[in-house]
Amino acid sequence: MSDPATPKNMRPSENLDAIVVGAGFAGLYMLHRLRGIGLKAIILEQAAGVGGTWYWNRYPGARCDVESMQYSFSFSEELQQEWQWRERFAGQPEILRYANHVADRFDLRRDIHFETPVRAAHFDDATGRWRITTAGGEEFSARYCIMATGCLSTARLPDIPGRESFAGKTYHTGHWPHEGVDFTGQTVGVIGTGSSAIQAIPVIAEQVRQLFVFQRTANYSIPARNAPMAPDYEQAWKSAYAERRTKARMMRTGILYPLNDTSALAVDPATREREYQARWAAGGLGFMAAFNDLILDRRANDTAAEFVRAQIRAIVRDPKVAEILCPKDHPIGTKRICADTNYFATYNRDNVTLIDLHATPITAITSHGLDTTGARFTLDSIVFATGFDAMTGTLTRIDIRGTLGARLRDKWEAGPRSYLGLMTAGFPNLFLITGPGSPSVLSNMMVSIEQHVDWIADCLAFLQREGLSQIEPRSDAEEAWVAHGNEVADRTLYPAANSWYMGANIPGKPRVFMPYIGGVGVYREICDKVAAGGYADGFLLSAGPARAAAE
Ligand code: NAP
Repeated sequence: MSDPATPKNMRPSENLDAIVVGAGFAGLYMLHRLRGIGLKAIILEQAAGVGGTWYWNRYPGARCDVESMQYSFSFSEELQQEWQWRERFAGQPEILRYANHVADRFDLRRDIHFETPVRAAHFDDATGRWRITTAGGEEFSARYCIMATGCLSTARLPDIPGRESFAGKTYHTGHWPHEGVDFTGQTVGVIGTGSSAIQAIPVIAEQVRQLFVFQRTANYSIPARNAPMAPDYEQAWKSAYAERRTKARMMRTGILYPLNDTSALAVDPATREREYQARWAAGGLGFMAAFNDLILDRRANDTAAEFVRAQIRAIVRDPKVAEILCPKDHPIGTKRICADTNYFATYNRDNVTLIDLHATPITAITSHGLDTTGARFTLDSIVFATGFDAMTGTLTRIDIRGTLGARLRDKWEAGPRSYLGLMTAGFPNLFLITGPGSPSVLSNMMVSIEQHVDWIADCLAFLQREGLSQIEPRSDAEEAWVAHGNEVADRTLYPAANSWYMGANIPGKPRVFMPYIGGVGVYREICDKVAAGGYADGFLLSAGPARAAAE
């Protein structure tokens, strides 16, 4: 790899208005909108194709936990009418096909540079332009730099001693081989029981000779009840798409499902049980909307958590295994709740063994497999379903420097700081799509992506109209936003869990609740108000050196 400081190729990019980093759904729509407002833009993407998270996460069973009719773009009526989803919850291959369809349909590929990982983004105070350097040593420059880098895009391998010594094959769910993996006849270990593992384990179990699941923290999971798309359901959505999308945008999570605006503690136990049973039977993450205080009140939360534990005990035949699978150390929903297909029932199979790492922690990975304090496991393959350096990991791995060379990774050392999750003070014209400080991972990502992309595009169009070329948040506005985010989070049960929302899965990462929990609808109104006020509330606007240089 060449030194990014000495680019081997200078690109003739002085006429670029914007560089977007990442060709997932955020980057694709951003490019489309930038073209629409007459800006010249490109995307730099490290993968060989579009799709972001759906390009990388090809593990068996990978599937979205938001319904297909809602986990899709709404910006084009023709697109949403013409595209036909095959399942209630689309699997990874179908979502990736959709991403490719969007790229082709809107002729986006001609402005995407694939296999072009970004290593550095430096703001040049003299010209007011961002200089972007790639791993291959190419250099690009543009007035605006837009990070569409995703929230869960830096895979995390655990620091288990001996990891490199394993003689068999290792896989991370977030970097699954494109050609797939045939585990037939193998003894396989899966480390982790988060959303990815919970989807992968039932599928892998059907293939292997023996599966060992190494669980540190038990997780709540609701059956997805996935099924082929019912034509009348699809039709009901398509005939009222505009209206339903509008409603979804104002929901707390950006997902339209029946919200029961009652406290779990205000109803008698039989009514409560009926409500939970109905939602368990319906499947999917709407379970958490059974009552309005499940993430606010521990006693209300306990009723939902106990209901799920009772389901686990009813499904899993061995009571000891069932007990290990019952989550007890965090309130339900405070770690990302999972949606599964046959997850708990998989532990009834003769070829699946659950290892409780709380009782017998892993001591080492060896050449032959894995040792815990209780036993030695001989494995052919190890699957790391161990998650991501979420929300900030991808951004802080890029050498991002703002005015006077200040580094983003230094600024965020004690936790990410942004204004509205969209921009960060000291980094003019740098936009973050679904950045920390915005609802992002707590929401339907498609809704949040569209909202951010539209806000950014409208902001850039405003700058053009007003003859301005530079925008950045005021430090006091940023401080107030961070304080507000913390204050709202502290009113919920979320900070009670050692979750990746809190950075707790990465040793040494500051414990800060990173997304904004105030709700997608409330948040949209705040952002819209700032835009309607000409960005005077919290932002500094100027003609900037970029304009001066261009004149
Ligand atoms: P994750 O939720 O962070 O889960 C990682 C798992 O690995 C946890 O069970 C964790 O245990 C375990 N782990 C990590 N380090 C370990 C170690 N050293 N020893 C033993 N166990 C270890 O990651 P993920 O499952 O990839 O999911 C990440 C997020 O991606 C999800 O929360 C969700 O937002 C998204 N996702 C969505 C879908 C979907 O749409 N259906 C599917 C997959 C992922 P601890 O809990 O004890 O740390």
